[in-house]
Amino acid sequence: MRLDAETELCCLIGKPVRHSLSPLIHNALFRELNLNLVYLALEVDPDELESAVEGLRAIGIRGLNVTMPHKERVISHLDDLDDLAKMARAVNTIVREGERLTGYNTDVFGIKHSFDKRRMDLTGHKAVIFGAGGAAKAAIIAVQGLGAEELVLINRTPSRARDVVGEMSRSFNMEMTSLGVDDPRRSAEVAQADVLINATPLGMPPHDQESPVSREELGQQKAVLDLVYVPRRTPLMRMSEEAGIDTIGGVDVLVAQAMEAFRLWTGIFPPEKLSMDIASRALEVR
Ligand code: NAP
Repeated sequence: MRLDAETELCCLIGKPVRHSLSPLIHNALFRELNLNLVYLALEVDPDELESAVEGLRAIGIRGLNVTMPHKERVISHLDDLDDLAKMARAVNTIVREGERLTGYNTDVFGIKHSFDKRRMDLTGHKAVIFGAGGAAKAAIIAVQGLGAEELVLINRTPSRARDVVGEMSRSFNMEMTSLGVDDPRRSAEVAQADVLINATPLGMPPHDQESPVSREELGQQKAVLDLVYVPRRTPLMRMSEEAGIDTIGGVDVLVAQAMEAFRLWTGIFPPEKLSMDIASRALEVR
């Protein structure tokens, strides 16, 4: 890697960021593709968000990733939003063009790509998504784009799921309902689902023995996607594989959203195998 007076900067802002794999993935891709760019993870407090974004704009940053807790609040500091970011009301990637900063949501691409590359068409399907945060909203947009006809959003805080469904159902031609995790209708909805998506932290430490669904609720589904990527195989993924269901892990989505962010910053869509190998090595050394 060359570091000289022409090196341009990309970075991640969030809090915490020290666990992130993004610096390892992007710096390795910059090196492999011989690009004079460097990627840093910067911890930014919520009350410093505006000055951080303005400072990065002033120094001519090439691009940013944004993670919790800034994905929604950062929008008010940007000049433009891409359509998917508008729909999700959440930004995970920013591109600078001249003086302008434009926000994108590459999590939607990452989820959609993970189904597409397995040739999984969701036309007419029913999806059940657990969670009601930024990842769940990206998943709603992705499954709608893949042709799903019906969606049930299940969340620990029922009012949050109700708000997300209320807000997003206006833009989508998809039947959408919300439930709390303890709702008595939940097991029947899960059993009837063609696709299940976990967009909660259940499955990652300190919840690494937990799953949003029980083994008894699994069996009829065609596909399960767990957005958790540490550990690589979660309890939900193990149970789904044992039940003979096509199972997709969060690493696929992590890599695909990073590839799309990389394309937005550099104009180059990096090779998928190279990107996946880099992420796998990064997960091993973690
Ligand atoms: P978020 O905005 O904070 O939302 C978290 C959601 O999970 C909320 O709906 C929350 O419910 C629910 N939740 C949190 N703790 C829970 C628990 N103990 N039991 C049941 N539900 C719980 O987070 P996010 O950005 O949507 O991320 C969600 C997950 O997706 C994280 O694990 C993240 O690492 C993963 N993710 C992965 C990728 C990828 O590339 N693979 C991309 C984005 C996100 P309440 O509303 O009740 O608080």
